[in-house]
Amino acid sequence: MSEQKPKPKKPRGVARLQDGKCIACGARCQSSCPVNCIEMTDSGEPIVETTKCIGCQKCVKICPAVAIEMYFTPEEQQILATLAASSVPVEEEIDPEAAELAKKLARYRGVWVFVEQTEGEAAKVSWELLGVGAGLAATLGVELCAVVLGEDVEALCHEAFAYGATKSYLLDAPVYRNYRTEAYVEGCCHLIEAHKPEVILMGATGMGRDLAGAIATRVATGLTADCTGLAIDDKRNLMQTRPAFGGNIMATIMCDKFRPQMSTVRPNVMPMPERREGSTGVIIRDPFTVPEESVLTKVIEIIRDSHGKAGVDITGAEFIISGGRGMMGAENFSLLQELADELDGVVGASRSAVDAGWMPGDRQVGQTGKTVRPKIYIACGISGAIQHLVGMQDSDIVIAINRDSAAPIFEVATYGIVGDLFQVVPALIAKIRELKRVGK
Ligand SMILES: Cc1cc2nc3c(=O)[nH]c(=O)nc-3n(C[C@H](O)[C@H](O)[C@H](O)COP(=O)(O)OP(=O)(O)OC[C@H]3O[C@@H](n4cnc5c(N)ncnc54)[C@H](O)[C@@H]3O)c2cc1C
Ligand code: SF4
Ligand code: SF4
Repeated sequence: MSEQKPKPKKPRGVARLQDGKCIACGARCQSSCPVNCIEMTDSGEPIVETTKCIGCQKCVKICPAVAIEMYFTPEEQQILATLAASSVPVEEEIDPEAAELAKKLARYRGVWVFVEQTEGEAAKVSWELLGVGAGLAATLGVELCAVVLGEDVEALCHEAFAYGATKSYLLDAPVYRNYRTEAYVEGCCHLIEAHKPEVILMGATGMGRDLAGAIATRVATGLTADCTGLAIDDKRNLMQTRPAFGGNIMATIMCDKFRPQMSTVRPNVMPMPERREGSTGVIIRDPFTVPEESVLTKVIEIIRDSHGKAGVDITGAEFIISGGRGMMGAENFSLLQELADELDGVVGASRSAVDAGWMPGDRQVGQTGKTVRPKIYIACGISGAIQHLVGMQDSDIVIAINRDSAAPIFEVATYGIVGDLFQVVPALIAKIRELKRVGK
């Protein structure tokens, strides 16, 4: 009888700091080590006690500066090379903590988009999210589902199918007629508990921000607000990209230990998907309701914002003519209004112009203003600070007018005009009027 050979063990190596790479992030590596084998120097760099290191790679994975690598002795490298070349199965040492986590995460499947509605009318951002959600669901190989809460709102489930969802969870009852945090949190958490989605996307609107935060707290998961990019990594984690540190860097945030992974995205950040008339899907109508007496908030009246005559909704405009500090004063914005009138557009502004009191806050474009995606965005006397760019750089065409040829706005401009806006804008208006006359 032949004796069975023991399966070769894969060497795990030990952690090692790479010279000059540590950014002293605050000892994340030390906190992640399960066997306390990392000490920190006075300058905030780690020293690994290699005799205690079990090669779990937790410090390697957590380090934001990719400063720690795994070190293998020449003998271990030899074993690794042999194992790689042979067909003998390798006995992987399983980290019980990691295995438990993987089991927990595997219970969650599916990409959900919350369909925000007011008086039965869906917010456009919900459909934009179905567009990006479809890509995520395809990468993950799971269903794209809409979550609809309201009264008599089944039509929104069908609308969600037209924008790419294949399933809609519907809570349809009088208590959900108008958005109220208590009722919607109860309803959504009930659905999450029952069906366990791995990703939930919501609009970064007043309603979405309020609801997402409350749900994330209740189900004890992470939430990334105002994402500008969403993708899936090779471990099924959602990579949520958003501006950080005042917009000076783009951070990719992961929620790799908790589910669902929740993100909000501002309107107009994601492109609108194509509407496919006649698409169908499955509606899961859930009878779960919340007793009206348990909801303390009562909605007396809904007063719509920015749709009245006084307000201007710049987010839906196809042509935006924005002015910055280069406009020199509130009175000069009438020049931009003239150009906007010729193009049937609206006037926007940089934060400097808003802070100076030249334009109202609802016209501000940028990180702390509105995100816009018009066909044409004309930036007049705007330098192009990153906080402004994140709000308009996805416009189809950007025309920049600035007298400083080195202004960063020219880096995102489709067409750049270096010159004095007080000469260029009147010349543009005159040219458009002339073309209109000739065209008549
Ligand atoms: C946390 C945070 C959030 C922010 N959020 C926003 C935001 O949402 N939106 C936003 O816009 N900013 C935001 N900012 C501010 C941003 O950093 C910039 O300060 C701001 O965008 C600059 O506005 P501006 O381009 O109008 O002014 P400036 O940077 O002063 O630029 C004026 C430009 O006008 C040009 N100019 C002057 N005169 C003329 C002329 N006659 N003809 C042609 N060109 C002329 C100049 O060459 C210059 O490039 C934020 C900042 C922070 C820290
Ligand atoms: S590899 Fe694991 S055991 Fe070794 S130092 Fe890093 S965290 Fe600690
Ligand atoms: S996690 Fe990385 S950057 Fe942070 S202290 Fe440790 S080695 Fe340095």
